[in-house]
Amino acid sequence: MLRRIGGWVPGKARLVTGLHETRAWGLTAAQIFLTPAHKAVIFAPEDGVDTVGLQSIAEHVQLFVHAPYVMSLFPPLVKHSRQLAPLRMLATHAASIGAVGLVLHLGEIDEYGETAVVAARQMIEDLPIRIFIENSTHAALKTVVEFIVRLRDSGTDVALCLDTARAWVAGDAALFGDARAFDTLVNTYLTPALGLFHLNNSTQPFNVKTHQGLYAPLLFGSIGTEWFERVLKVFPQTPVILERASPVQMVVDRAVVTAIDCDLTHTLFALKNHPISGSLSQS
Ligand SMILES: [Zn+2]
Repeated sequence: MLRRIGGWVPGKARLVTGLHETRAWGLTAAQIFLTPAHKAVIFAPEDGVDTVGLQSIAEHVQLFVHAPYVMSLFPPLVKHSRQLAPLRMLATHAASIGAVGLVLHLGEIDEYGETAVVAARQMIEDLPIRIFIENSTHAALKTVVEFIVRLRDSGTDVALCLDTARAWVAGDAALFGDARAFDTLVNTYLTPALGLFHLNNSTQPFNVKTHQGLYAPLLFGSIGTEWFERVLKVFPQTPVILERASPVQMVVDRAVVTAIDCDLTHTLFALKNHPISGSLSQS
C-alpha cells in the first residue's frame, strides 16, 4: 500500500471544499482544525461546518484533527482539569466525522514519572479516538518516547507524532545522522511508538529568543533532507503530514516524499535543483 501523504487544510466553512481540492492534488491524508487554532471552542454547524461533507471525505482522505494550541497533554497544572471536558468534546467530534486521530502537543513538564503517567491517563484514556502525542521542543525524543511507551504499557492507546523540526530543535539531530544512533532511534524509540510524521516545512528560520519559526524548508533548510530520507524509508506505511508554508510548496513537498518512497533518486535530485522549488526556498 502506498504511504498516505497529506497537508494542513485550513478553514471552517470552506473546509470540505479545501479537502476536495487537496484530494484533487493527489493527497490521501489531511490535517484539520475543528476549533479555532487558539481556542478550545468547537466549530458548530451554524459556523458553516459541514459535518456530513467531512464524513464523506473521510471515506477517501485519512483525516487527522489537530487540537488547538491552547490544549496540550501537559499545560500548567491549574488549567489541567479545565481541559478535560473540552478535550473529550473535541475527541468525540473528531471521531464522529471519521477522523483517524487527534494530534495533541506534549506541552511542558519537568519530570515524566508516575505522577505524569497518571495525569496523562486521566486526560486521554477512554477517549473515542486515537491520540497522537507530538514531541516537544523542550524534551529529548528519548524521554518523550519512553513516556509514550509507558502510557501504552498501561493500556492507553497513544502513538508518537514525530515532528521533524521539533526533534531538531530539541537537540535530537545527531540521532538521525550517526549510523549507530540511528539504529537505536529506529529500534528503541520509533518502532514501539511511531504513528505519524509531521514534516515541518516553514520558510522561517528558528528564533532562539522567541522559540518561534523553528522550521526550515524541506529541500533547502539547515535541517536538510538526508535524515528525512533515511527515516521515511524505514517506515514506509507511516502517514506523513506536510506542515507547509503554502499550497504550492505542499505539492512540491509531496513530490519529494513520493520520490523518496519510490526510490526515485534522480527525481529527488531534479526537484532539489528545480527553479520552482528554488524560488520557494526564498519565499
Ligand atoms: Zn507538527
